[in-house]
Amino acid sequence: MREKVAIVTGSSRGIGRGIVLALAEHAWSVVVNYRSNQAAAENTLQAAQFVGAKGIIVQGDVANKEDQVKLVEATLEHFERVDLLVNNAGIGPRVRVDMLEASEQSYDEVMATNLKGPFFLTQLVARKMVHLIEDGKVQSPKIVNIGSISAYTSSPARAEYCISKAGVGMMTALWADRLAEYGINVYEIRPGIIETDLTSVVKDKYDHLIQEEGITPIRRWGQPQDIGKAVVAIAEGLLPFSTGEVINVDGGFHLTRL
Ligand code: NAP
Repeated sequence: MREKVAIVTGSSRGIGRGIVLALAEHAWSVVVNYRSNQAAAENTLQAAQFVGAKGIIVQGDVANKEDQVKLVEATLEHFERVDLLVNNAGIGPRVRVDMLEASEQSYDEVMATNLKGPFFLTQLVARKMVHLIEDGKVQSPKIVNIGSISAYTSSPARAEYCISKAGVGMMTALWADRLAEYGINVYEIRPGIIETDLTSVVKDKYDHLIQEEGITPIRRWGQPQDIGKAVVAIAEGLLPFSTGEVINVDGGFHLTRL
């Protein structure tokens, strides 16, 4: 049967929405998760349904244990399977503050959402995936973590974000190693500068860096659908002999140039 099921965290807006729509266009069923913006989540689901996809919306904070359980339980109750988890939900610090002044509160909030939450959500989903494989209900399910160029690029005004994304790199390697024996491949997609609400506060700065300074060899903003296409390539099984792989979707930002 076709209808494979993807959970995409933080898919009411931005990159998550782009991922949901790309999967929907490839006949995936989708679980749209959001934290607080219900109207945006409904809009995303409607857009997915418009191209013929099935889906549900599950509100929940990825940093909250009970909400993690709710997300997984609701998915299995409705679809009885999960073939893909995309750990996309992520936040920057509420205010960019030099790391000499950064607060523990901001550090804890960013790490809980970007790293600890995805780690334990993955643990929950991976356990379910193993059972689903053993019961013959799914084959080769996959996990995708949305990292960032901030994993290796220093921005002292948002140190907690950079540290969280560096952690996502190691998390990807660890889950890839642990889950390979079950046939569950784990990937990281590392977006560059993508046009979403997250980057809207620094739009002018990035416009200049991209257009005038050529910070990316491909001189344009990335779009959520650029990430969506990469997720679809993974979801559709086009990288079967790769796991723990980091896929840069960044217009070439990561290239070292002279
Ligand atoms: P965004 O436009 O701010 O959207 C964030 C999404 O995540 C929204 O759907 C939001 O839900 C949801 N969300 C936030 N915190 C959540 C939580 N605790 N639990 C559940 N959902 C939560 O951000 P984005 O630019 O699309 O970023 C998505 C991911 O890509 C993040 O991991 C980010 O670090 C990464 N990334 C982004 C860029 C970029 O340039 N934009 C670059 C590299 C990496 P609500 O609508 O309910 O608020």
